[in-house]
Amino acid sequence: MTFAELLLAPPILKATTACGYSLPTPVQAKAIPEALAGHDLIASAQTGTGKTAAFVLPALQRLWEGASGSRKGPRVLVLTPTRELADQIAQATRTYGKFLPFKGAVIVGGMPYTEQFKSLARKPDLLIATPGRLVDLMDRGRIDLAEVEIFVLDEADRMLDMGFIDDVRKISAAVPKKRQTLLFAATLGRQVITLAERLLKQPVRIQIDATQAPNQHIEQRLHVVDDIQHKNRMLQHLVGDRSLKQAIIFSATRRDADNLARRLHAQGHSAAALHGDMKQSARNRTINNLRCGRIRLLVATDVAARGLDVAGVSHVINFDLPKFAEDYVHRIGRTGRAGASGIAISFASQSECACLSRIERYIGQCLPQQIIPGFEPKRPLSVASRTKTLNSKPSTGKPVGRVGAKSSPAKQKRAVHKSKAATGGTRGKTGSGQIY
Ligand code: AMP
Repeated sequence: MTFAELLLAPPILKATTACGYSLPTPVQAKAIPEALAGHDLIASAQTGTGKTAAFVLPALQRLWEGASGSRKGPRVLVLTPTRELADQIAQATRTYGKFLPFKGAVIVGGMPYTEQFKSLARKPDLLIATPGRLVDLMDRGRIDLAEVEIFVLDEADRMLDMGFIDDVRKISAAVPKKRQTLLFAATLGRQVITLAERLLKQPVRIQIDATQAPNQHIEQRLHVVDDIQHKNRMLQHLVGDRSLKQAIIFSATRRDADNLARRLHAQGHSAAALHGDMKQSARNRTINNLRCGRIRLLVATDVAARGLDVAGVSHVINFDLPKFAEDYVHRIGRTGRAGASGIAISFASQSECACLSRIERYIGQCLPQQIIPGFEPKRPLSVASRTKTLNSKPSTGKPVGRVGAKSSPAKQKRAVHKSKAATGGTRGKTGSGQIY
């Protein structure tokens, strides 16, 4: 199927051609015709599959098909969990909509209210928002969602993981019942299905990538390490390799990200940290610096695990393994973007053996171990336990990573707290809007 066969409007086709896209990706080929036919959709697709265009193109088509005269509020609302994703979706709408007259706006936490009030006053056709700030503006009577025709929930599973369920419900109640709802999630777990049952009407279900297998273009490598000193020496060696163009290095905590970035910087590398404790303006600056190549090494927490789309990232390095297995797939998906190849390197010490087993069970394969001469581990990992886990429970395609993740109320509270920090959704904080 070609883009022309999807029956998209000429200015949209012109934009996809200008992007150099020859064919729709599988999620686009399945989702776009259904969305254009007006159906509700529930689609499971990871970032990197082209899912943004799968909802942005039909949304732009709707805008192209005719404005409904003078309006009080947006016709398309896209909810997304983080500020970075909101910015990326905004960029995609600018790219795909560059031959269309439309006004877009971004409403995210951590930015001044005055700018956001101004951008809402300009009556955007398409609004991209994180849930916390949107509810905040709704409570202040600054936004009217009564004219929303298309409601998109992007990364719905992530929004629920981050504790946004009440905000999502409140926002859904404020958009008209007679609307089209497009829900995208990396995995369709029970919580997402329950949400979909409440919000969607006879949705068409689209499943892309039923297995959890990572992108084929990404070469995965495992380095066994003895301790933190060994990790640091190995990292220093790897980042000294000139074939590494740009890398995202994932660490377990915000403090570790800061410390590691500082150390790499002191070693003469262009390195910076990215995590949820940073102000939004600093996060934006860091991502821009990465995009334009001023930063070669980005040391990040899982705030960068999803959605971040920077073409030059040749390597992902898991300095610390993620706690949840599906985050491994998200993290390594930051390289190998849009058909390019990439290398994903993971360090694992004996104490991370359980995490490693979970990841291997989730992706249904053992990570191939590599030994760099001079960096041999003193002790091998307990391979028997890894192989046993893999063999005893073959990958069912079901996520095993978050088993028990919704356990204790304290844990849920922490998740909510974390989510507010990640999206800047805390009430009363200042922040800015963006119209384009
Ligand atoms: P996404 O999954 O939306 O984050 O998209 C991942 C990457 O795929 C982005 O860099 C897009 O520009 C690119 N992309 C989206 N659709 C296509 C397509 N049909 N052909 C080639 N690249 C695409």
